[in-house]
Amino acid sequence: MQLKTLEIVGFKSFANRTVLHFDHGTTGIVGPNGSGKSNISEAIRWALGEQSAKSLRGDKMADVIFAGSATRHPLNRATVTLTFDNQDHTLSDQHDEVEVQRVLYRDGSSAFKLNQKNCRLKDIVNLFMDSGLGRESFSIISQGKIAAIFNSKPEDRRGFIEETAGVALYKQRKHEAELQLKTTASNLERVSDIVTELS
Ligand code: ATP
Repeated sequence: MQLKTLEIVGFKSFANRTVLHFDHGTTGIVGPNGSGKSNISEAIRWALGEQSAKSLRGDKMADVIFAGSATRHPLNRATVTLTFDNQDHTLSDQHDEVEVQRVLYRDGSSAFKLNQKNCRLKDIVNLFMDSGLGRESFSIISQGKIAAIFNSKPEDRRGFIEETAGVALYKQRKHEAELQLKTTASNLERVSDIVTELS
């Protein structure tokens, strides 16, 4: 699996449609301070489902939408589209090329798309969990993250290792199954109360 292209429209400093092509090998992004280098990695994380505005250096999620400049009006929509080469089927999707898109409007409405079809945030998160490119993965290390990993509590550090080892997805599914079991147990209890009342 490889990230092939990143298309940004209206996200942070990228008012105009900007397309980045990532070839094989290493891509370096260079530019003066404040030119938008970090905004590029944030765009990738955001499209993969980042839910924390703070980790994107904003107060609220709408802060990712282009806020205007001396020469341009603010925009009402941010769109980021990622295209992955999936010929090795690292992502459990039958397509050889997988497209992920996230859109956010200033009124707060938003959408995720997988291969041009509407989907849930959960579908994107599940698809990328344990692929090495999830929103929390270590393929994207932002400034300060290395220090945060070294200074983290042992339980949190164990979480990092679990994600890297590929067990995070199964832990998440176990957690969901436990919640369902809890709901079912409480439903059964209720049914048994009703049966007792009626008999
Ligand atoms: P450095 O080298 O200093 O880390 P950088 O190249 O990584 O800088 P970024 O931090 O990616 O730069 O970009 C910062 C720029 O993005 C600032 O000029 C800021 O005004 C602009 N910016 C951030 N959010 C928005 C927004 N919503 N609308 C318009 N511009 C924005």
